[in-house]
Amino acid sequence: MTENLAASRETMGFQTEVKQLLQLMIHSLYSNREIFLRELVSNAADACDKLRFEALHNAALLEDDSPAQIRISYDKSAKTLTISDNGIGMSRDEVINNLGTIAKSGTREFFSRLSGDQQKDAHLIGQFGVGFYSAFIVADKVTVVTRRAGEKADQGVRWESDGGGEFSIEMAEQAVRGTSITLHLREGQEDLLSGSRLRAIIHKYSNHIVQPIVMQKEEWQDGASKIVEEDETVNQASALWTRPKSEISDDEYKEFYKHVGHDFDDPLAWSHARVEGRQEYTQLLYIPAHAPFELWDRNARHGVKLYVRRVFIMDDAEQLMPQYLRFVRGIVDSSDLPLNVSREILQESKDIEAIRSGCTKKVLGLLEDIAANDAENYARFWGEFGRVLKEGMGEDFANKDKIAGLLRFASTQADTADETVSLKDYISRMKDGQEKIYFVTAETFNAAKNSPHLEVFRKKGIEVLLLSDRVDEWVVSHLNEFDGKQLVSVAKGGLDLGALEDEAEKLEQEKEADELKGLTDRIKGSLADRVKEVRVTHRLTDSPACLVADEHDIGGNLARLLKSAGQHAPSSQPILEINPKHPVVLRLKLEERHFADWAAVLFDQALLAEGGQLDDPAGFVKRVNQLMMEMSGN
Ligand code: ADP
Repeated sequence: MTENLAASRETMGFQTEVKQLLQLMIHSLYSNREIFLRELVSNAADACDKLRFEALHNAALLEDDSPAQIRISYDKSAKTLTISDNGIGMSRDEVINNLGTIAKSGTREFFSRLSGDQQKDAHLIGQFGVGFYSAFIVADKVTVVTRRAGEKADQGVRWESDGGGEFSIEMAEQAVRGTSITLHLREGQEDLLSGSRLRAIIHKYSNHIVQPIVMQKEEWQDGASKIVEEDETVNQASALWTRPKSEISDDEYKEFYKHVGHDFDDPLAWSHARVEGRQEYTQLLYIPAHAPFELWDRNARHGVKLYVRRVFIMDDAEQLMPQYLRFVRGIVDSSDLPLNVSREILQESKDIEAIRSGCTKKVLGLLEDIAANDAENYARFWGEFGRVLKEGMGEDFANKDKIAGLLRFASTQADTADETVSLKDYISRMKDGQEKIYFVTAETFNAAKNSPHLEVFRKKGIEVLLLSDRVDEWVVSHLNEFDGKQLVSVAKGGLDLGALEDEAEKLEQEKEADELKGLTDRIKGSLADRVKEVRVTHRLTDSPACLVADEHDIGGNLARLLKSAGQHAPSSQPILEINPKHPVVLRLKLEERHFADWAAVLFDQALLAEGGQLDDPAGFVKRVNQLMMEMSGN
C-alpha cells in the first residue's frame, strides 16, 4: 500500500439512526438470521444491474467486460464469509453515504412507529428493510472493499466496522471493479462455514437472482467435503419471469418479490403474464401485504423495474404505473423498446402508455379477483392501500367504474369503521323503492356516524355510507353515480326520499311547513346573514335542528377541509332546517323576550353537531347558561 493510501484512513461515526437500527436489528432479527445472505446477494445483484444500465451510456465502465457474477466463499480457519460482485461498486463518498447513513425516505416514519416491544419492532424492521446492515446479525466485524466501475485501481475504498458506533474508511488498491464484503462471523455462527449450508440458503432465498451466484465446487473425499479448484453456479441464474408459470413455485415467486420489493414479508398477491399484441412484454406485478413507510412521501421510489429483453433498464420506472397504484412492485420486461431508452423517452412514449394501461388493467383485475374470492385479504389490502386507490377516482377516468367497484365504505349498517361495504353490496340491499345511494361526509367516523342528518334514515332503516376520510369528499365529487344509481349527500339539498315516503307522510309534512311558516320566517329574520334559508325538515327525529347545504353549494365538511388546508372555499350560507315535532322548536313558537338567543343557540348547536366551529363560542356558552338559568327558575 502506498503512503498516500495509508494516510487516508479515517474513523467516522454512524448516523444516530444507523446505530439505533443496528442494535434493534441484531436482537430482533436473530431468529431469522440467515436472511443476511439474501440481503447481501440482493444488493450485489442490484449493483450488477446498475452497472449494466450505466454501461448503456458509457461502455468504458464495463472495463474488461467480465460477465456479471456474484461469488460466495468462506474460510473455515479465519471464520469469514465473503460475498463479492463485479457490479457498479462505490466511490468513497458513496460508501460513506450508503454504509454510514440511512438515506431512505420513510425513515422518520419508521423510527416514530417503534414501540420498544421486541416482537412488534422486529416486524417493523422487516417492513422497513435493513439491507446491508443485516450483515451484523451474524458478524461482529464487517470489511467492505469496493471500487467504482471505471475508476483506477488505486481508487478502491476499504470500509470496516464492528457494528458499534463507528466505522473506518480508507483508500485501498483494488484491481477489479465491484464490491467484496467479508463477514467475520460471531461466536456460534460456524455452521455458516459450510458449502452445503450456504448452498441451501442460496437456494431458498436467492435462486431467482438473474446473475450467476458462484461458489467453489466441493467434493466428498474420505467422508469429508473438499473444495476443488473449479467454480459452479449454485442458483438457477435465469430471469424468473421468463420461465413458464407452471414451473415456478409460490415460494420462488415470494422470494423474488422480497428482492424486487425490498420487503421482508410475503406479498399479498401477484400476477404474472406474457402480453402479446401491439406491445409485447412480460409483467410480474405484486401487491404487497403492507404499506411501505414511504407511501405518502413524494420522493419515494416507485416499485416497478423496467427490463428490455431481460436487460435491466431502470428502477422506479414511474411511467409504468399510475400514481394511485404506486404501491405495486415488480417488473416489466419489454420485447420492443430500444435498449437505450431513457426516462425522457419513456415520458412521451406511446408504447409505454400501452404497457401502462395493460399493467393497470391487470392490477385492477387482480384486485377484483381478491375482492370477489378472498374477502379477508381484500379487507387487508383495503386497510393498507385503500386511501391510495381512492386517488384513482380523479386520476384515471378510463378505469373509473372499475375503481369505484373496488372502493369500500363504512356504513350505518356496521358498528366500526373497519367493517366496510362495497357499492355493489349497498345496492343489493337497498330498500324497496330506494333509488339513490346515500352518504354523509364528516371529519371523523364518529362525527359521521352520529350526524343528525342520519336520523330519518335510521328510522326508516335506510343504509347510509359514512365517509370520514379526507379524500372522500373528493372521491364523491368524481362519483356521481354507480351502476345507474345516483350518489347523494344526506346533508345537501332538500330531502327527497322518493318512493320511500308515503303520501300520508308527504301531506303531513306540507301541513307542518304551512303551520310553522311564521316561525321559520321569524328565525330567518333573526339569524339574517348567517343562513340562506330556514325551513321545516323531516330528516330529524331526535335533534331540533340541522344545517344542510343548498344543492349546488359546497357542503360544510368540504368547506372546513378546504379552509384547514389553507385553500379558498367559496362562501355560501347553509340552510337551517328545524324539526317540527321537537319540543324546543314548539317552545320557540311561544318565545318573545329571548327569541334571538334561542334562534342563535339552535343555529350554533346545529353547526356543532356537524363538526363545525362556532364564530363566537363565548357568546354561545353565555346564551346556553342563560337558558339553563331560566329553566331553573332564575
Ligand atoms: P437498500 O438496498 O435498501 O438501498 P442497503 O442498506 O442494503 O439498502 O444498501 C444501501 C446502499 O448501499 C444501496 O442502495 C447501494 O447504493 C449501496 N450498496 C450496497 N451493497 C452494494 C454493492 N454490493 N455494490 C454497490 N453498492 C452497494
